[in-house]
Amino acid sequence: MGEVRPFCQSRTVIHVNTHRFRVGCGSEEAVDTSIMKGFGFEVIKQEGKTGARAGVIHTAHGKVATPVFIPVGTRGTVKAMSPEELKGMGIEIVLSNTYHLYLRPGEQIIREGGGLHKFMHWDKALLTDSGGYQIFSLANLCRVEEKGVTFQSPLDGGESHFLSPEKVIEIERNLGADIIMPLDDCTTYPCSHEEARKSLELTTRWAERSKKEFGESSSQALFGIIQGSVYPDLRKESAKELIGLDFSGYALGGLSLGEPKNLTREILDSTLPHLPRNKPRYLMGMGTPEDLFEGVIRGIDMFDCALPTRNARNGCLFTSRGKIVIKNARYTRDFSPLDPECDCYTCRNYSRAYLRHLFNAEEILALRLNTLHNLHFFTRFLQRMREAILAGKDLSSLNPRNIDK
Ligand SMILES: [Zn+2]
Repeated sequence: MGEVRPFCQSRTVIHVNTHRFRVGCGSEEAVDTSIMKGFGFEVIKQEGKTGARAGVIHTAHGKVATPVFIPVGTRGTVKAMSPEELKGMGIEIVLSNTYHLYLRPGEQIIREGGGLHKFMHWDKALLTDSGGYQIFSLANLCRVEEKGVTFQSPLDGGESHFLSPEKVIEIERNLGADIIMPLDDCTTYPCSHEEARKSLELTTRWAERSKKEFGESSSQALFGIIQGSVYPDLRKESAKELIGLDFSGYALGGLSLGEPKNLTREILDSTLPHLPRNKPRYLMGMGTPEDLFEGVIRGIDMFDCALPTRNARNGCLFTSRGKIVIKNARYTRDFSPLDPECDCYTCRNYSRAYLRHLFNAEEILALRLNTLHNLHFFTRFLQRMREAILAGKDLSSLNPRNIDK
């Protein structure tokens, strides 16, 4: 029997085939070199006091230094940015969304166009979300059954679509991203222990089907998505079952749904120790600079969030001294750089007064300059954390808690 949900929230999954693992300060474990052509991950250094670690993800489209912030390019583009501009900021991986690309223009068209990398002119690493979260949150009507999800698209006049775990893998294979996520079910927050258990059990069965459909790929990696809402026992169970399926990396889904921050961090604290150290850990859909800091010190390697790009388009800019709402009158005659400590193109060349003028005049350049700065800020923040981990420095000096308000 299907279950009709007017709104439910979810996120994605994964799988892995090969990896390398090095850990510790100078103490290297055996490196499996058989994995060089496809996906791999190595921990280069683990910070002494915390769980923070610096590593490298290897893909068929280059290396990704971790911890990393992954910009969101939902429809095959990071809004307002060209691939050259992203690469100019040192960005090595971009996320795109299976749900949106399946509906428009359709994965077959992208396949005919040579795959998503070629279609969007991005030759570095790509990750595709499964679309589960978007189906549950954006589709008009959503029926969840054992076999998959039926939903109506808001784009095509309410036409009915059906996606199974197998179909999602097929779509992602046609898109050709380096890291792909399986279809998962996700609860809203709050939800009961029983609801969360039911949801995670379905997610696990879907993960198993996804893994089977995925088979062995030399060029793509499939990750697993850990669910279980805010219940540590369910998170542990989900992690254990997914690890048994041997995915290429493990993501934490179903967080940042409105639960208190301390609860999110408790879930990280109780879940991460159960994950293998030699596989990447991906915190989906988070977050603020403070979220990134709290994730990194607990051992998270990958983050994605629409926050910096969306906020940029709304005129909310992240700086080393806190957030700035650029439309405010106080910046009318402020001819200083947006962030004096930032060396991005925007901060090197434009004043707050000019950025305020562009934003209030609704000029396209405002969206571009703001996005460029915010993405640079997030990217540089994690790069600095990585540098500090590698240099063995105390990470607490990078904690944005006092300015991220
Ligand atoms: Zn800047």
